[in-house]
Amino acid sequence: MLARAIGVPHISTGAMLRDNVEAGTELGQQAQAIMAAGDLVPDDLVVAMVKDRLSKEDAACGFLLDGFPRNVVQAEALDAAMGEGALELAVLVEADEEELVQRLLQRAQEQGREDDNEETIRNRQQVYRDETEPLVGYYPDNGVSVVAVDGMGAIDEVFARIVNALADN
Ligand code: AMP
Repeated sequence: MLARAIGVPHISTGAMLRDNVEAGTELGQQAQAIMAAGDLVPDDLVVAMVKDRLSKEDAACGFLLDGFPRNVVQAEALDAAMGEGALELAVLVEADEEELVQRLLQRAQEQGREDDNEETIRNRQQVYRDETEPLVGYYPDNGVSVVAVDGMGAIDEVFARIVNALADN
């Protein structure tokens, strides 16, 4: 919804990895068990995949990254590849952990994602705290504003908050 609203491609590393698993590529074979456990796919593999994607013509005038970077090593690799200042803004969508568990269990029913079971979800939350949350400090230190948005409530309410936050920034 957000990518469409701002007219840029939606680049989701999770979706790209799932496509690779589905297609049985070498990358997909390397990633499958790691994703099923809710751990991070090795940085070099994900960074190469993102660099390749960002080199495509449709990303020349902007892009929305979703699920990347997941840690400081990936953030540094992105800076090195794109040059500092390539990112305009980071959006931090915040919600209660228990609410997120319930949403993902609901998604498991709708989409059948292998990693949307409670054990894996809780591991993904731990990986988030350990690896991804430090980016909330990294980006302001590196000149990229982090805009926090309340992620509780319905999809269209959260979407409206994000759009408003982008308009204000
Ligand atoms: P997502 O669709 O963003 O929830 O990602 C699903 C899974 O794909 C994650 O739990 C990881 O196993 C893997 N993944 C997605 N993005 C990344 C990334 N940037 N770095 C490492 N692993 C990732």
